[in-house]
Amino acid sequence: MRFEKIIKTSHFLDPFQSYAPVEKLSEVRVDPLTGSTSRILDFPVRQLEKTDLGPIAESTRQFCPFCPSMVEQITPKFDPSLVPRDRYRRGEAVCFPNAFPYDENGAVTVISREHFIPIDGFTGPLISDALECCAEYLTDVLPRQGEAVYQSINWNFLPLAGSSLVHPHLQVMASSTATNYYANITRALETYGRAHGGNFWDELIAGEERAGERFIARTGAVSWLTAFAPMGAFDVIGVLSGASRPADIPGALADEIARALVAVLRFIGSLNITSFNMAFYFVAGDASFTPHIRICPRIALPPLGTSEINYMKMLHGEPLTTMKPEDICVAIRESWSV
Ligand SMILES: [Zn+2]
Repeated sequence: MRFEKIIKTSHFLDPFQSYAPVEKLSEVRVDPLTGSTSRILDFPVRQLEKTDLGPIAESTRQFCPFCPSMVEQITPKFDPSLVPRDRYRRGEAVCFPNAFPYDENGAVTVISREHFIPIDGFTGPLISDALECCAEYLTDVLPRQGEAVYQSINWNFLPLAGSSLVHPHLQVMASSTATNYYANITRALETYGRAHGGNFWDELIAGEERAGERFIARTGAVSWLTAFAPMGAFDVIGVLSGASRPADIPGALADEIARALVAVLRFIGSLNITSFNMAFYFVAGDASFTPHIRICPRIALPPLGTSEINYMKMLHGEPLTTMKPEDICVAIRESWSV
């Protein structure tokens, strides 16, 4: 497995050093599976300031469709010809159809009765119950829609990450059409299998654990690491072993994943970052597809609240970051208690 870094050197005359010639380095990293590239920039990272989310939490509370007084009355129910339950419930979590679906099967799982939870305020049981609701729904989709194999559990946390509501919720998809991520990954996994004869994820985990630079921890059935070529400012990956379908998640595995997610979210919060995206990917019916999770923080850069997503990611498909995956890994390991 190759971890290829292409070091770029840029030369110019620096006005802050009397126009003396200077060199600046940047790094292009090639993803060992897909060949996609990400850039690691050598810029000073400014400490982010804590954002006060109280005003947005309060101003959205009164008309929130996901708060307990509203959720039963104004959210949709599943069509009984598709799945056997009208809504899925566990603990505080409730899963129902997405009124604004992206695909033939879109659902929302409200995580909590509480309207607003800060990024470092989630508990294992809250997340575990929500994951179980999603997994039960996804499991029930398949018998009547065997082609809806691209199954994922996704999280946009807060408006900066694309959420239109503050109330914490997951978005669940079961589709017959691969997203670009699924298409790229499944194609690359096939190519890797043909070229190397082994399972990419097993070899990645073994190699990363040996090298130690980006390996955070193994929590039991899940190995956690930072991505060599991150898809965002940083990119925490959880790779499952011994599970291949949503039906494998409820129980001990959901609890294990939830505890680790709580640790990752607390770490993100410790950097004064308040927002993130998460995806948990399955390909149902394909035991060779290793389910995995990716979590990327979402950042507005001071002092203007500048979006981290500029033309590079938007129009070149090239993630940029100033955070080295190896430094992030060390920092997560220091704070890790699962
Ligand atoms: Zn609410």
